[in-house]
Parts: sequence; C-alpha cells; structure tokens
Amino acid sequence: MDKCSFCGRERKDTNLLIAGISGHICDSCIEQANAILEEELKKKNSFDLGQIKLLKPAEIKEFLDQYVIGQDEAKKFLSVAVYNHYKRLMQHQHTGDEDVEIEKSNILLVGETGTGKTLLARTIAKMLHVPFTIVDATVLTEAGYVGEDIESILTRLLQAADYNIEAAEKGIVFIDEIDKIARKSDNPSITRDVSGEGVQQGLLKLLEGAIVNVPPQGGRKHPEQKMIPVNTKNILFIAGGAFDGIERKIANRLNTKVVGYQASKNKDLIDSANLLQYIAPQDLKSFGLIPEIIGRMPVITYLHPLTRDTLRRILTEPKNAIIKQYKKLFSIDDIELKFEDSVLDYIVDKAVEFKLGARGIRSICETIMIDTMFEAPSKDKKEITISLGFAKEKIEKANMARLKAS
Ligand code: ADP
Repeated sequence: MDKCSFCGRERKDTNLLIAGISGHICDSCIEQANAILEEELKKKNSFDLGQIKLLKPAEIKEFLDQYVIGQDEAKKFLSVAVYNHYKRLMQHQHTGDEDVEIEKSNILLVGETGTGKTLLARTIAKMLHVPFTIVDATVLTEAGYVGEDIESILTRLLQAADYNIEAAEKGIVFIDEIDKIARKSDNPSITRDVSGEGVQQGLLKLLEGAIVNVPPQGGRKHPEQKMIPVNTKNILFIAGGAFDGIERKIANRLNTKVVGYQASKNKDLIDSANLLQYIAPQDLKSFGLIPEIIGRMPVITYLHPLTRDTLRRILTEPKNAIIKQYKKLFSIDDIELKFEDSVLDYIVDKAVEFKLGARGIRSICETIMIDTMFEAPSKDKKEITISLGFAKEKIEKANMARLKAS
C-alpha cells in the first residue's frame, strides 16, 4: 500500500500523493516543507551587520589604494566617513544606546569627470559587501514632470540587493552629477526650476533619512503598483560632481575674505593652480545647491585632475589594471604577453593628446590589441611582445575620429 514517506498517511487519507523514486510525499507534507523552506530562505536573506567587514580607516584606505591611484585626501575623508557610518550602525544594533545620536555623514566628492569618484564609491561598496548602486542625478525630475521620480534611486538599490529590504537599507548609493541639479541662479526668488531646486528638495528627504515608498519596478508611480517602504536612515549617500567653474567661486571667496596687509601675506600661501582643495560649503551654495542639501552632506572632499604620471600608474598598478587584464587574457591561452615600456608611455601620450583621461585608456588599448587578440589564439607563439612601432601603427591606422568621440 502507498504511504507518504514523511507522515505515514495512506493514499486514501491524502488529497494527493506524489511518487518519487523510492518514496512518496503527500500534499500536506509538501505544504509544510514549503513553509519551512520559506522560513529558512528568509533567515538566510536577512541582513546581519556582522556580515559587514568593518576595517579601521587606515585599512580602508589601504584597500582603496589597491584599486585607486592617488587621490589621498579623498581616500582619507572617505575612509573616516565610511568607518564612522558603519560604526554608528553597529553601535545602535548592539547597545540600542540612543543617548548620543551619531549623525549620518553623507559624502560629497568634487572633482573633474574621470578622476575616480565612481571608482572610489564602487570600491568602498565592494569592500563592505553591501548593496551598491549608481544613479545619475540628471535624469531625476520633480514629481509630475517627465523623467524619473526621486524614489527610483531606491528602486535601483533594491534591485542591487535582490529586493532584500534589510540589506538595501544599509547600502550605498552613489549619486553622480549632483552639480547638474544646482539651482540655475543663486537667487531663490526664481520661480520655476523643474530640474533644479525641486529635485534638491526631493533628494533632501532621502538624504535626511525617511521612510520612502518605493515602486519596486521603478518608472513612474501609478496607483495600482504596490509600494515597498524603505527607510533611508542608514543608507550612505555618496554624491559626486565636477562643479565646473566652482574655482571662480572659491577664488572670489578667498579674495573677499582677505583684506589688507595680512591678506596679501595669506594670498601667497594660496595654491591658485589647485583651488579645489579649498572647497567649502559656501562655494557649493554659490554654485546653486540649497543649504539644506549641503547640510546633509557634511563630508566634502575633492579629487585632483589626473596627471600624466597618475595615468601611467593607472595603466599597470591597480589590482585590476588594464595591462594586467590583457596579460591574464593571454595567459589563459598559455601566451606570455609583454609590453615595451615605451608603449605604455605612448598610450598615456595619446590619452592626454585626445583629452580622453583614464576612461580613454581602454579604447586606446583595444585599438592596439584587437588584431593580436584576434590572431594569437590560432597561432602557436608562446610569447608576444607589443612594441612601440606596432602600437603606433595600429593607432595611426585606426579611425582617430572614432577614438576621439568615444
Ligand atoms: P568619475 O566618477 O570621477 O567621473 P570614474 O571613477 O568613473 O570617474 O573613472 C573612470 C575610469 O577611469 C575608472 O573606471 C577607472 O578605470 C579610471 N580611473 C579614474 N581615476 C582613477 C584613479 N585615480 N585610479 C585608478 N583608476 C582611475
């Protein structure tokens, strides 16, 4: 007689008995097993702060050093801010001590495009194993206008966390091009500024910490969609922007502050070639960020423009440096790939010449390497050296217009 191998019920006492290779299972045992499964999965998905590997600030910086070249000031500020942020979360969790509420410190990175702002934020998230997403502030608009609602920022984070809300609530959001939502004028009486102040007001709510109803699939809100409430209190926001022209505001401020004899002495101390290092909240206000937003990003730091020397190091030094990647690719085919040093200098020259920055290095390398990558696997050479002559020939033959545009 067929019986459920789990509860022993006979077929007649069940609604359904399913046969396996050497046993049976009844409908009620399936239901029970399913409930256990759901419970276990929920446990597995819940996000324990203990999973975050919190290193000391100096160790965080060391980790960043493996992936990001230079930018020491930014790394130092980031390391401390991230350390404090997660320490604050852990303190809450362990002691529930609310006596001294340590406030969250969102971070603002100011620096030219392509200097490593996104890379820094991404590397921090990689180190912490927390959900991470990048959003572009330029697509955000005030509710009711064409574009994405502010809440869509959190949709992305939820997606990055596989909809594990607890994990998302401890994640990191990188808001790129925050300078593009600056008010067009420092004059607050300006009437309608769809993509400016309204968006900043919306963003403020997220930065401060609030329970926000998030459309799980993103896009625009519509009444039928079921919303997921997400608390942003412990989400770390890192914003980045180039703030083109902010040097002028900094210069103005530095000059107006210093008057008289003492002033001229101070002026000599100002490194006018790199004014960004003096960036202060007032400058962001003159640029068009509202004071409330500035107040919610208490950690402000800057990135240096990439020098030729930095670019050269970026080629070979980071853990996943592009040259290392090519060597790895070839080694999988048992080919040892070598580059003459002058080739690396040449790549940097071209990146500078075409004003491509670090981002352009990849396309330059691809142009040099494409034919070799195409042919090498079918030949039985065990060693390939890329010479300067070879690299020059490839670049000169390539469609320069394409390189410049990419
Ligand atoms: P940003 O966000 O400042 O516009 P990214 O972080 O996206 O710039 O940098 C673009 C690319 O350039 C990165 O993916 C990285 O490969 C490279 N890069 C830029 N700056 C650095 C740096 N300081 N160290 C290593 N790589 C860098």
